[in-house]
Amino acid sequence: MIDDAKQRFAALKAGGMLPSPQGVSLAILELTQRNDANVKTLTHLVQTDPAMAGRILRYANAVHGGSLRHIASLSHAIVFLGLFRVRQIALGFSLVDHYRSGACTAFDYLGYWTASLATGITAQQVSAQAQCPPDESFTCGLLSGIGRLALATVFPMEYSEMLVRNLNALALREAESSNFGLDHAVLSGELLDDWGLPEIFHQAVRYHELPAEAPFAAGSRAQALTSALHFSSKVGALLNMDSARRWERLPSLYHAAAQLGLEDTQVPPLVESVVAQWHDWGRELRLPTQDFSDLKHLLTTPPDMAGEAGMSALVVLPMRLALIAYDASLLRNLAETLDAMGLLVELAPDRNSALRLLAQNQTDIMMVQLPDSGDESARALRELRTCDGGRQAYCIAMIPPEAEANVAKLMLAGASDYLLFNYSESSLVARLSSAQRVVTLQSAVRTERETVIRSSGEWARSNRRLLHEALTDPLTRLHNRRYGLDRFNQEWSYAMHSGAPLSCLMLDIDHFKAVNDRYGHEVGDLVLAQVARIIQSSCRKDDVVFRFGGEEFCIVGPGTPVKEAIQLGERIARNIRKERYGKGNELFHVTLSVGVASREAGDSDVEALIARADQALYAAKDNGRNQVMVARNDVESGA
Ligand code: GH3
Ligand code: MG
Ligand code: MG
Repeated sequence: MIDDAKQRFAALKAGGMLPSPQGVSLAILELTQRNDANVKTLTHLVQTDPAMAGRILRYANAVHGGSLRHIASLSHAIVFLGLFRVRQIALGFSLVDHYRSGACTAFDYLGYWTASLATGITAQQVSAQAQCPPDESFTCGLLSGIGRLALATVFPMEYSEMLVRNLNALALREAESSNFGLDHAVLSGELLDDWGLPEIFHQAVRYHELPAEAPFAAGSRAQALTSALHFSSKVGALLNMDSARRWERLPSLYHAAAQLGLEDTQVPPLVESVVAQWHDWGRELRLPTQDFSDLKHLLTTPPDMAGEAGMSALVVLPMRLALIAYDASLLRNLAETLDAMGLLVELAPDRNSALRLLAQNQTDIMMVQLPDSGDESARALRELRTCDGGRQAYCIAMIPPEAEANVAKLMLAGASDYLLFNYSESSLVARLSSAQRVVTLQSAVRTERETVIRSSGEWARSNRRLLHEALTDPLTRLHNRRYGLDRFNQEWSYAMHSGAPLSCLMLDIDHFKAVNDRYGHEVGDLVLAQVARIIQSSCRKDDVVFRFGGEEFCIVGPGTPVKEAIQLGERIARNIRKERYGKGNELFHVTLSVGVASREAGDSDVEALIARADQALYAAKDNGRNQVMVARNDVESGA
């Protein structure tokens, strides 16, 4: 298949009709491929094309604007960008100039470029997420659809006939393959390869329309770049669309943003800044750009959720549960209960059989017995989590009651929840129904993703909702731990690079067990939800509030120095204290204890910061509860 594509591409190329850089750009391309290329000769060459010279200058200033002095001379710009990037930029702009119209009547050449330009600008803006240098991302985005232009150029009549049939994305690609021997996505990749762009770019361009098909490992740079291009091309398409159709596209845009790790709230300002640059560059390149004064309204009005089936409509399929326990009686008792709940239970009495089981079977949920919540147990848990073939089974750690104090360590090692050895039947059932719910949502998201090609507004909307649900704690409606820790890590790396302060608050309801014992579990649940609401409403918009587990909550405060974090803790404790809880006329008071820690040079990672906040929390408990304590180092540092 790959070789077929290469052969077919070679044949097309031999035909001499494929889009290619012209004039000065071609000379730049050739020059930069020679060993003796240097800034001086390149500057001379670019100067012969004043428009190109102006654009390279403008580009260098736009990309690095603000952080540096204005770059006034062409040779400085070239030194600054480097020969390789100048070459890429020249390539992109030359193609825009020379392929603004053509014989393929159903192909909208200017629309194509205007969307591609917006794609490039977006790709540049999200390059941090893609872990790529911004310049490469720009070219990659600008040329991500070049295969379509190429087909329009080489086969104007046939492609025009194909385009007027208004096929969906998959059908179009099939028609392209059977008529031309390769589809536009493959052709885009081949062209970038031929122009000497690094492999990661042609791979990303090749797969960005259907990222679900990409063979890249999760978390790899290639995958990140593919997701970035996927999102960018959605922004590109959105900006080139009439306003009636734009609405339909929003959910999938947000979904693509979420895949890239962008928050809902980050999307509108991002798109606005893209639009501003798009107008600038559109003028420069003489491409039509639309007025987008209604953009803000469009982006911030949530997609219509009406008419969608509620969560209860999800079918709960029989799930495979791997029970990994070394204690024979625990194993037996649990297995019986779980069988009775209709789960397909598979047993593993030791590490080796557990690894085998997880590698072979499609495990949805694993329950793992651990002797404690120490480092060794966390390591064992991590190992199990990584050997289930990337399925990311929902993992419940079973621990002795004395290990509960340190359970955060296990959560960070990948446990989704925990259960004490002396569990009650009702807590087991509660744990499993929440596990089943998450697994069902995840598999729904997975299935939906696999059928991404049938993407419609409705699908995208429901996908976005599912994604949202999968990241929300059902009881409190706060973010769940998975989401919270993910955001925490993002904020951590931002704080690392910017040097901005970052605080963590751990909050735990005092004597909550007594609430359950006295008023019942149902009232306990009500209290949890009410406390969650108070915590959330006491925080700022930028604070990330999530349920850490049980009756424990965590707040991440980006840009928050320790002093403000303590004030926040005090404010929350006060607001919790003055409220009444419960139902009917049996109302009562609740208090909570708070541990605060701020990021310090000695903290190696998020885990270390959480551990310090946790220590402070336990100190607050020891000291009589209903109070805020700060991690010791933070006090000494004089914050
Ligand atoms: P402390 O002041 O030391 O924190 O005492 P505590 O009783 O709050 O702490 P402990 O850790 O002993 O008990 C926590 C209790 O929270 C036990 C557990 O059953 C209850 N709990 C955890 N999750 C939920 C839940 O989702 N709903 C309800 N109702 N109770 C929960
Ligand atoms: Mg408690
Ligand atoms: Mg607790």
